[in-house]
Amino acid sequence: MKQAIPILVYHSVDTECSSAYRRWMVLPSEFDAHMGVLADNGYQSMTISNLATRLRQGAPLPPRAIAITFDDGLADFRTGALPVLRRYGFPATLYVVSGYVGKTSRWLTPLGEGARAMLNWQELRNISEVGIEIGAHSVCHPQLDILTIARASQEIAGSKRVLEDGLGCEVPSFAYPHGYFNRKTQDIVRGAGFSSACRVRHALASDTEDLFALSRIVMTSAISAGDLHRLISGVALPVAPRAGRAIERGWRVVRRISRHFSVTAEPTAEAAETGNM
Ligand SMILES: [Zn+2]
Repeated sequence: MKQAIPILVYHSVDTECSSAYRRWMVLPSEFDAHMGVLADNGYQSMTISNLATRLRQGAPLPPRAIAITFDDGLADFRTGALPVLRRYGFPATLYVVSGYVGKTSRWLTPLGEGARAMLNWQELRNISEVGIEIGAHSVCHPQLDILTIARASQEIAGSKRVLEDGLGCEVPSFAYPHGYFNRKTQDIVRGAGFSSACRVRHALASDTEDLFALSRIVMTSAISAGDLHRLISGVALPVAPRAGRAIERGWRVVRRISRHFSVTAEPTAEAAETGNM
């Protein structure tokens, strides 16, 4: 029987941000309450690579397996999320935009967060030594599915190479920026040597899901601890639905055309990750 595996994705855990970014910032107290729900209900957190390895081998999972992920590599991971994760003893996976390590999140400029601090190399190395897996999230956070194959390859393979050089360890997992990918993107990710990749989808992942399109639930400031419990217990979410392919294809065409004609509808940054735009 299919086992549902909730995979959460957070972005920022902090106390201040622009109003346009507010949806993507969870307060440390809210994050603490979220982790409390997981602990109280017996969830066991795994890194994505640990999860993917077990799924590939057909090895059993804990009955309440869950994965906690963070996209982008913002500096507030270290101050807002890490102390809470360590207190609960939860491993997690942090997907880092390699081209902005030690700089600021320039791609978030349209949301008023272009000057938000990113983690630096020393911080990333320290973080990777305390049970946090570092994954790749491209070089500069583009919409990979509308790039040429050559450009997408640079973004995907380049981020793996730079992170592995900077960290001195293997980086086996990838997360698609904005959650956007297509079959070609997946092939490039596989070819670059990654062994798993995460998408964004308002659904629970399962033990039969494609390891290069693992569904993640976007965690926003609007999700209370009670909401989270309903989401991960399957009351409020389906297990990896098949719906939405036609809609995704249609939206990709719109984004491609917008880019071609330089229409401002372009990167609404992480907003796209809700999948409901
Ligand atoms: Zn991102």
